[in-house]
Formats: sequence, C-alpha cells, structure tokens
Amino acid sequence: MTLALPKVTVPAVVGADLRVPLVTGERVTYANLDHAASAPCLEQVRDAVDELLPWYASVHRGAGFASQVSTRVYEQARDKVRRFVGARPSDTVVFTRNTTDALNLLARSVPKGTAVVLFDSEHHAALLPWRGRHVQRLVTPTSSDAAVVALDRALAAAPVGPRLVIVTGASNVTGELWPVAEFARVARRHGARIALDAAQLAPHRAFSVRELDVDYVAFSGHKIYAPFGAGVLVGRADWLQAAEPYLVGGGATAKVTDHGDRLGVAWSAVPERHEAGSPNVVGVHALGVACDVLSRHWEQTVAHEEALLARLRSGLESIPGLRSLSLFTDSSRVGVVSFTLAGLDAGFIAAALSAEYGIGVRDGAFCAHVAVSRLAARTGAHEQRALRASIGLGTTAEHVDRLVAALRTLVTDGP
Ligand code: PLP
Repeated sequence: MTLALPKVTVPAVVGADLRVPLVTGERVTYANLDHAASAPCLEQVRDAVDELLPWYASVHRGAGFASQVSTRVYEQARDKVRRFVGARPSDTVVFTRNTTDALNLLARSVPKGTAVVLFDSEHHAALLPWRGRHVQRLVTPTSSDAAVVALDRALAAAPVGPRLVIVTGASNVTGELWPVAEFARVARRHGARIALDAAQLAPHRAFSVRELDVDYVAFSGHKIYAPFGAGVLVGRADWLQAAEPYLVGGGATAKVTDHGDRLGVAWSAVPERHEAGSPNVVGVHALGVACDVLSRHWEQTVAHEEALLARLRSGLESIPGLRSLSLFTDSSRVGVVSFTLAGLDAGFIAAALSAEYGIGVRDGAFCAHVAVSRLAARTGAHEQRALRASIGLGTTAEHVDRLVAALRTLVTDGP
C-alpha cells in the first residue's frame, strides 16, 4: 500500500539535489535518511549566514562598526532562541558548542549534593556528565505511564536537598516522544527541577518551557538545520549564576586583579560568565535564524514528517526479519526509526545502502549504548547494534521508497 502525501510546502534545504557515486560508477541523488545525526542547512539559514560573513567580528568588546553589527546579531539570536523555546523572562540563554556542551555545563553548575534522577536509555550526552555523582539511574520501563510512576517513586526516595531530573524530549534511538509535561508535574510535586534534552525534539515539534514547566532545555544548531558549532542551554539563572565557569578566559570576566602570588577574578554575570573566549557569532546567528524559520512552519513540518514516517513504517513492516526498536508500547514518534534485520549485520547493510543505492542511514548504537544493547538484544539481533533511518525537511517519498526497496533486495539477495 502506498500512503498519499499531503500537499504541503516545507522550508527548502541546501543540497537536495546532491548526487553521489555508487560502486557501479553511476551517480544518483543522495537520499539522506540521517537527519537525526545532523540535519542539512536550510536555504534561508545559508542566505542569512552569507549576509553576515562580510561583517562578522568580535562581539561585545569592539567599538568598530562590524563589531557592533556582530554584537547586535549575536544578541538578537538570544531573543530568537527565547521565543523558540517559550522562555520565561528570568531565564538565561547561554550559547554553547552543542547539546553535549550545554548538558555538561548544567552538570558543572548544579549545587553540591544535588540528587540527580534519569533513565538509562538517555543519550550519552545526558548520561555521562553525571558519572560518579549522586545519581539514580532508572531502568527504562516499557511504557511511558510506567516511566512517570518510576520517576515518582525515585523522587519520593531521593535525599532531602536539591534534586534534578534529566529527560529527553524525543528518543534519538526510537523517535518516541517522552511524557515531559507529566514528568515535570511529578518533579514539581517533589520539589525537583527538570532539564529537557531537546536535541531530537527541537527539529520536529514546537514546545514551550513555560507550558511544559521545565527548568532547563538544551539543543544543538546542527540538528535544527543550521551548520555545526552552536548549541544552547536555556533556563533558571540562579545555579548558573552561582557556578564557577568551567571554561575560563576572556569574556567570562568582569575584572582580573594582580595580587602578586595569585590572580583575583570577578566573573561576569550569566550568560557571559559561561561564554568565555570569542564566541561563534556565525554559528549562533545560523541557529537563531533556523529557530525563526522552524517556528513559522510547524504545521507543514509536522504534516510532511508524519506522512513520510507512516510511509516508512508501513514499508518497513513488509521487510522479512525486520524488527523495529521501541522503548515504550504507548508513545507517538517523531521521524526516527531504528531496526535490526535477522541474521544481518547493521554495519554491512548501512555500507551496502550507501554504495549500492546512494542512501545514508546510521548504524551502531547511536551514543545510547545501554538502550540499544537492551533493545537490539530483545529483537534477537546477533550484534547489539541497529540501523537508524531518520527523516526531516530534506526527505522525500522517493527516498523512503528507495530505502524500503533496497532493504527488501538486501534481505532477499544478501549484501
Ligand atoms: N541528546 C540527544 C537526544 C541526541 O540525539 C544528541 C545527538 O545525537 C545529543 C544529545 C548530543 O548532541 P550534540 O552531539 O549536538 O552535542
């Protein structure tokens, strides 16, 4: 059955007509089904970056005209991010390198002794910064309702003092949407703060930290159709304001004084306190513009992706031996699907999809080793690895159909 696609126009991405070589020497249009790793640049973002390139200069510290332009663009990007995440007026917006950097910054900024609760299916960027700390790592249950109950129990048993819950908005393994608002309600009931890893949510769904009632959110520019190098941590200013910066240098300092045997440092207030060094003005501008473009097109984006996801899932169901990975039995998803193929190595299949069909997917454990090992083992995969196809604004029905047809051939004839 071929599912009809809605007639919607979504923002165009750069490189939609890229052609790649196959082993046969033939060239075909590249089918990028790896949006969850990094999304291609939006044309509107490319144009905005082009416009800034003659003007970029060091921000905040220069009186020259180019410096003033760059400073304005940089600060305007903070406002764009604020609007994109529905920030509270008192929230601070710290520019980082990516989500990993943002979550590490948060981990370095929580008060000593904070009890942290998270699920073991999280991306390593959310799991690893808490190693060796007061962490309760919960085994991810098989339904989102059970996850809410598990969190409730964990917080009820957590020691008195500051508490922080870390949750993902959408899983990078299964694309499943997590019940963030319910988690936030539970967190509030127990006096805990909650941080949202929105790396996979931000490209696919509108959300508001105010409406969800979460305290922090982190995401990356390169997953929301801007080039690499900029990410963001938005949230309550107090812990960040009280924390020593973990990256130190110019820009983070209000005053440095020479006391002979030591240097005295008065750190700047947030957000500059955590933005030492010359910042990535171009990357931040790209991220801000991407936020604006996505915000204006949610309806079309969701319609486009849901239709393609339905087409992909229905096509994959027809492949013999294919088993999709699911954390939960009761969740809806964004356009990310991971699967194993009985008796076939994920790495071999990914290489064959690229060399023989011009299709880019991801294989392995997707920086979520605990989750993928467990889920792949449940499917009976002989290696604890999987394949992941992820869709986005650059995806077409032809890409999806090509993947499904290629998998069917590879499963039947072998790579
Ligand atoms: N969190 C999730 C859910 C992700 O999918 C990723 C990247 O794949 C990250 C965090 C880390 O993002 P980055 O590599 O941009 O720091």
